[in-house]
Amino acid sequence: MRLPKSLSDGYWRFRRERHEPDKGRYRQLADLGQSPSAMVIACCDARVDVSAIFDAEPGALFIVRNVANLVPPYEPEGKYHGTSAAVEYAALVLKVPSIIVLGHSHCGGVAAYRDRLKGNADDTSFIGRWLTLLDGLQVTERDVADFGKETAFELAGIRQSLANLRTFPALKQREAEGLLTLHGLHFAIGSGTILELDEDEGTDAFAVLPEHV
Ligand SMILES: [Zn+2]
Repeated sequence: MRLPKSLSDGYWRFRRERHEPDKGRYRQLADLGQSPSAMVIACCDARVDVSAIFDAEPGALFIVRNVANLVPPYEPEGKYHGTSAAVEYAALVLKVPSIIVLGHSHCGGVAAYRDRLKGNADDTSFIGRWLTLLDGLQVTERDVADFGKETAFELAGIRQSLANLRTFPALKQREAEGLLTLHGLHFAIGSGTILELDEDEGTDAFAVLPEHV
C-alpha cells in the first residue's frame, strides 16, 4: 500500500515551500549536528503540536512524546526505557539547558488513569501498565479550586514527572550546578492558554505564563 495521499501531498508541500527555500539551514543542521535549546516531554496527543506552540524552528527542540507526557523514575535495572533514554541523551550528550514537561487539557491518558481509580483497572495492557506511573499522584486542593478537577489531575501528573526527572542522578547534579532548569507547563487546547509551574520559594503553584515584552 502507498502512503495515504494526504501525507504524501503534505510532504511535497513541505519539500517545495519550506525545505527548498530554507535549504541552507537544513544543510547546516545536517553538517553541524543538532544543538537544541531545550528538551520537551509532551503527550502523543495529535492536538499538541509542540513546535507550533513554541514557534520553534527546525533543530530548536529535542522532543519526546509518550502517553500522558510521563517520565518514569530512574530505574537502571529496567529494560526498555525509551523516555529515559531520551532524557539521558538530552542531558548528558546534548547538554540541553532546559527540560520542559508539557501537559495539556483533555488528556485521554490522564482521564484513563482517573477511570482506573474508579475501579476500571487494566494493568495487563501496555497503556494500563504505563499509566501506573501516575500511582501516588498528589492532586492539590488549590489546583482543584483554581482550575477544576480534570485540570488538577493533569497538573499533578506534570509535578510527578518533574519529581521523577529529579531521581536521575545526572539531572539532579546538573540542576544543582545551575546547568539545567526544569519546567512544568500545561497547554489548554481550546483557549491556547499555557499555565506555568512556579516552584520558587516553595510556591508550587500554576499560573498563566506571562508575556514578557
Ligand atoms: Zn495527553
